[in-house]
Amino acid sequence: MLFKKRKSAKAQCASCGSMLSGVARVRATQLRTLAKTEKRPERPYGGVLCSACMRRTMIARARQT
Ligand SMILES: [Zn+2]
Repeated sequence: MLFKKRKSAKAQCASCGSMLSGVARVRATQLRTLAKTEKRPERPYGGVLCSACMRRTMIARARQT
């Protein structure tokens, strides 16, 4: 029997729930072999919010203060 290794689910935006691009879809054990920059985008909220939500959040935070 041949077992195929399953891919992890795609990361979703914490705000709008859309699929995040630039986030590695590998198993937890493989995550260790990747560099930090290969796991998520190098920007504030990278891998948490999508670029549009990040931009909106940053602008809202700048207006607050
Ligand atoms: Zn979003």
